[in-house]
Amino acid sequence: VEPERRRSWYGWGWEDEAVPEADAAALGQGLAAMFGLSLDRVSPPRPDEVDLPASRVRAPGSLPPLRTGTRDRAGHTYGKAFRDVARAFDRRWENPPDAVAYPRSERDVVALLDWAVDAGVALIPYGGGSSVVGGVEPDPNSERPVVSVDLRHLSGVVEVDTVSRAARIRAGTFGPDADRALRVHGLSMRHFPQSYEHSTVGGWVATRSGGHFATGPTHIDDLVESVRAVTPVGLWESRRLPASGAGPSPDRLLLGSEGTLGVITEVWLRVHERPRWRSSAALTFASLDAAAAAARACAQSGLQPSNCRLLDPTEAVSAGVTDSSSLLLVGFESADHSVRPWLDRAVEIAQDLGGRLRGPVRHSGPGADGTVDAVPSDADPASAWREAFLRAPYLRDVLVSFGVIAETFETACTWEAFPDLHRRVVAAVQDVLAQVCGGGQVGMRVTHVYPDGPAPYYTVLAPGRTGSLVAQWDEVKAAASEAITAAGGTITHHHAVGRTHRPGYDDQRPAPFAAALAAAKHAVDPHDVLHPGLLT
Ligand SMILES: Cc1cc2nc3c(=O)[nH]c(=O)nc-3n(C[C@H](O)[C@H](O)[C@H](O)COP(=O)(O)OP(=O)(O)OC[C@H]3O[C@@H](n4cnc5c(N)ncnc54)[C@H](O)[C@@H]3O)c2cc1C
Repeated sequence: VEPERRRSWYGWGWEDEAVPEADAAALGQGLAAMFGLSLDRVSPPRPDEVDLPASRVRAPGSLPPLRTGTRDRAGHTYGKAFRDVARAFDRRWENPPDAVAYPRSERDVVALLDWAVDAGVALIPYGGGSSVVGGVEPDPNSERPVVSVDLRHLSGVVEVDTVSRAARIRAGTFGPDADRALRVHGLSMRHFPQSYEHSTVGGWVATRSGGHFATGPTHIDDLVESVRAVTPVGLWESRRLPASGAGPSPDRLLLGSEGTLGVITEVWLRVHERPRWRSSAALTFASLDAAAAAARACAQSGLQPSNCRLLDPTEAVSAGVTDSSSLLLVGFESADHSVRPWLDRAVEIAQDLGGRLRGPVRHSGPGADGTVDAVPSDADPASAWREAFLRAPYLRDVLVSFGVIAETFETACTWEAFPDLHRRVVAAVQDVLAQVCGGGQVGMRVTHVYPDGPAPYYTVLAPGRTGSLVAQWDEVKAAASEAITAAGGTITHHHAVGRTHRPGYDDQRPAPFAAALAAAKHAVDPHDVLHPGLLT
């Protein structure tokens, strides 16, 4: 029997994929050289070091058992942001849930909700716990007992409509499990957030997640056909429809509701045939402005690249580009036809704006397109970057152990606003890093491109002080959020609101909308049982 793989209870990913000790030590030496400092290492927390307040809840026998073990409660206290892992390394578990419930059916969810209303307990729906915005944390200002409702057992693809190409998937299904079941039908969700392996379908819908495709149906919003959720006043299930103009959409209200309006139990997602043809290329540009102009031209061309990722010179280093160029990765895929002409045109557009091909132009697929056009002259930037992308969260946890601040934040704005927003954000972050950390670096990539604007994504790396990392990061984040709001960007493009973005969300949403949302919340959850204080 294969041993069951375990996810880390305090950090990112699979326990058995943690960075090997020798690599971690080498990374520490590299960081020390980069920052000109000697860095001390803090060991990861152990469950026997965790001291939690006594649980305040006890469930009647009719409910699924509530687990109150240290690994359960501490493991459901935080999400997976830098500040979450940093608090774990600080051995800080100040506001844990009182217990964790693991419902095995929708009926269990209904029973939990009924009990919570009677017992005055707050419930926090929990998918993969990969939130980076304090999205699974109890309200720090509330005295109410809290139960985290971990939906991992509501898992599996229960129905596939191959005619309409849609699948009914239980909310607690992790990305790879859903795709494994769909593969049998030659289908895929084609929704790949970086957290794909460790986040769930229900979590995606609740947070309006963004997949890694740069254009086209990349947000979970685009894939949702209907949603089924349990609310304290009854079942909320929408009809399966390809489109509907009948008033405000029930799905739209649940999308992004972050556990406050109902526990999502099932979703019909539009699924896709698995792609067979792929074409991709990487181009470098002498300036970020030129690369941005090329990304914009591609976004406005109607070509709909699946990948159109722009990396500034700092980020391009992770793809092996070390000559201060900016890098544009562009790619297409299709289940139906060769995408070579689309790539050719995108390359032409980029070259007209100063781009220079770097590495091979790749075409793969049945027939004549199953060839690689050019032999790479150096390492292929696209594959190097992808590998770094997937390992990054594991490395992030090692950086925390060395007292290094390593975190990301993201936004979206119009193309017209982008140059000013980028300049302001970088200046604000560099300023605050100089004050708070004595220096550090901020890199930017554009993860998604729309005809009317990009979604820039920033990565901060700076020497911190063990024990003060959270306070230091909070200052950096506050400065970044202020610059983003002042320059016209959204407080978040795909990371959701959670506890972290609530001030920015309050600032940016229209007052009548806030009132309408509060009224909707009160209508479906009159006793404020579901994730109190998160969005309303
Ligand atoms: C390394 C890393 C990379 C990431 N990359 C991406 C990315 O590429 N794109 C992206 O969009 N996000 C990304 N995220 C953020 C995060 O993965 C997403 O927000 C994801 O959608 C959360 O899903 P989850 O199942 O982990 O939900 P959780 O973190 O468990 O919960 C998130 C929120 O949704 C609510 N919720 C969860 N399940 C349900 C349910 N069934 N019913 C009602 N409410 C529910 C919770 O109460 C909470 O408010 C990343 C995070 C990390 C750590």
